Amino acid sequence: MDWRESAACRTEDPELFFPLGEEGPSRGQIERARAVCRRCPVVPACTDWALLNTERDGVWGGTTAAERRTLRSREPAERRTP
Ligand code: SF4
Repeated sequence: MDWRESAACRTEDPELFFPLGEEGPSRGQIERARAVCRRCPVVPACTDWALLNTERDGVWGGTTAAERRTLRSREPAERRTP
């Protein structure tokens, strides 16, 4: 079974996970997306997918694009959701 089939965001509006930025009014949207991720059973798979595919936009596995840039700069063993 593909991890996406268990994603908590399957029933959410996809727009929630793609804020226009990471500051100001977008912070609230990011926190609402993270609240969905916190109850999701596939966070590690989702985060790994976003890192492997260099996903540059959106909230994946509860991480923002800026957080994933930081994670990509770390050694693989250190890569876990902040
Ligand atoms: S971790 Fe978040 S973005 Fe990833 S599948 Fe789960 S709910 Fe969706």
